[in-house]
Amino acid sequence: MLMADMTWNEVEKHISEVNDNLIIPVGTCEQHGYHLPLGNDTFIVEYMANILSERTNALVAPAINYGVNLPCDVHLAGTTSIKPETLRGIIVSITDWWRQQGFKHFLLLTYHGDPFHIQAMEKISDDIKLYDISEIEYSDILDKQSSIRHACEAETSVALFLYPEKVKMELVREHDIKFDDFKKYLFHEESSLPEGYVGNLGYPSFATKDKGSEIINRMIDRMINECYDFLKPLR
Ligand SMILES: [Zn+2]
Repeated sequence: MLMADMTWNEVEKHISEVNDNLIIPVGTCEQHGYHLPLGNDTFIVEYMANILSERTNALVAPAINYGVNLPCDVHLAGTTSIKPETLRGIIVSITDWWRQQGFKHFLLLTYHGDPFHIQAMEKISDDIKLYDISEIEYSDILDKQSSIRHACEAETSVALFLYPEKVKMELVREHDIKFDDFKKYLFHEESSLPEGYVGNLGYPSFATKDKGSEIINRMIDRMINECYDFLKPLR
């Protein structure tokens, strides 16, 4: 249930009678190659937040639409980034007001593995938990990759399952960079664009809707396991 669709007194009643925990989707405004839209991470995290809300009756807060991105992505139009301390500051500010209204636990849901993005949201306080939905086992589902990369076989499969109308498979350009060679970009040490990089890593041409469905189901199972107790309804 989306908190933005409710009135304040409905939210107040929900906190005291149904569930006093809140899910906060944290997206990004980030390039995903020639074939996936900039809103990809936000679309997925909002979809997963709704499922978690259906299972627990915890409300879903309006998403934070910006995250921390790689400095090299500044060259890829539309992408933007906020500083880690800004992201952390936003979370501290908004939860401070919600806490005073009776919300007990805040679950930050994200689908973006930039280490500085993750670090910014870790260990803020005991009542705030960070959960990265992308952290599942992929090796038995994917054909060409053993783990998730970026706009890759895994991420593109999920997009094909959730919103095929926005995926441009005919424009996929494959250019893998080995994890070791990509590390300096991932850890923000290098801000030039890697040679030949159009924004995706791994093997998106191997993506299918069926793999996306398997990945989504596995992400849902793990998310429920890891987050249900934290978001437990009042009765
Ligand atoms: Zn992504």
